Amino acid sequence: MSRVLIIGAGGVGNVVARKCAGVAEVFEEICLASRTVAKCQAIAHALDRPIRVEQVDADDVARTVALIKDFRPDLILNIALPYQDLPLMNAALETGVDYLDTANYEPPDEAKFEYKWQWAYHDRFKQKNIMALLGCGFDPGVTNIFCAYAAKHHFDEIHTIDIVDCNAGDHGKAFATNFNPEINIREITQKGKYWQDGKWIEIEPMSESKMIDFPEVGPRKAYLLYHEEEESLVKHIKGLKRIRFWMTFGDEYLTHLRVLQNVGMTGIEPVEFEGHQIVPLKFLKALLPDPGSLGATYQGKTCIGCQFEGVKNGQTKKMMIYNICDHAECYREVGANAVSYTTGVPAMIGAKLMLENIWRGDGVFNVEQFDPDPFMQDLNQYGLPWKEIPL
Ligand code: NDP
Repeated sequence: MSRVLIIGAGGVGNVVARKCAGVAEVFEEICLASRTVAKCQAIAHALDRPIRVEQVDADDVARTVALIKDFRPDLILNIALPYQDLPLMNAALETGVDYLDTANYEPPDEAKFEYKWQWAYHDRFKQKNIMALLGCGFDPGVTNIFCAYAAKHHFDEIHTIDIVDCNAGDHGKAFATNFNPEINIREITQKGKYWQDGKWIEIEPMSESKMIDFPEVGPRKAYLLYHEEEESLVKHIKGLKRIRFWMTFGDEYLTHLRVLQNVGMTGIEPVEFEGHQIVPLKFLKALLPDPGSLGATYQGKTCIGCQFEGVKNGQTKKMMIYNICDHAECYREVGANAVSYTTGVPAMIGAKLMLENIWRGDGVFNVEQFDPDPFMQDLNQYGLPWKEIPL
């Protein structure tokens, strides 16, 4: 009998809770806990089987430990924010429970995400005979697994990887982010970075772009960003010479972002306002649409995948693995947009493989360190079918 504790009841938490509830043979008992318990109750209300709901501030390790001791989960899923990664890993260590998340840690006062803080827990998790699975969403997550799958089945050596992420959907709002606005804007306003010939090369934010012809979506302008899966893939894909990450943005989105940046609304340093300390980006988050609310009007598709170039049997080979996800279909199935859906489904699958002991190890792992085949099968079964094409 498996019990999971899901922390976080936002756009992605909703999908994870619904998808776990749909696989009752694995997820026999579910507790959904978050800072605002009303959001957990609303999600629980929409399910066709009962789950437990709790209020918890996951930054408070003692409070989380008390909840874990009471509910006795086999696995904690962190579907809150990257800031909660380390407090929840501390709670997992203290109680001897496995851990999974979808985004790597970043300190609240510095817009910088890196695996070093979480990789540093490896020995302590190993000594406790527990497992942490990091970055099990879509990107990071499925993109890493596409790389592991290509390395296992299609190449003797992969030389270049371009991860390409297109949201060709339209939600009808002038400006909104598809997942947590604070985390999203911190990510895309950072300097861009890619890895080539053993070195990281940094570029000004949004200073490199190119047209990419996305399968089933068409040509779109994509910008080179730094994305966290590059850091672990450089370590785990042998023979790699270059890895880059490209994401599409519409002109309207970029214009809004530029204006917001120019007037200081994306800053993370507190400013004094009428006797209060306010972080501009947090205030902006309060004004922007809740990503969870975008699904109702969203039309169009996402196309996210990996383009590979390498060698197989002495011949140069180029190919792509990708998934297409339709916003309106996601909304009909789970009341979410495709970005929340493509993140939540892989988190459920990663949790399932851990609970079934198909993916197992003591310590801290990235998803590409495990056999990609069962994960790829489950993607087809649970709503994220993938395709592979020559390039
Ligand atoms: P939301 O902002 O919609 O939801 C976050 C949830 O976490 C909210 O319910 C929030 O509570 C809760 N929360 C925040 N702080 C705490 C805390 N201290 N204790 C308990 N609960 C807390 O975000 P999303 O659902 O859009 O994103 C969730 C995660 O998914 C993020 O980490 C994001 O980076 C990641 N992500 C990963 C992707 C991938 O492909 N790998 C893609 C997209 C997102 P409250 O309601 O009170 O604010």
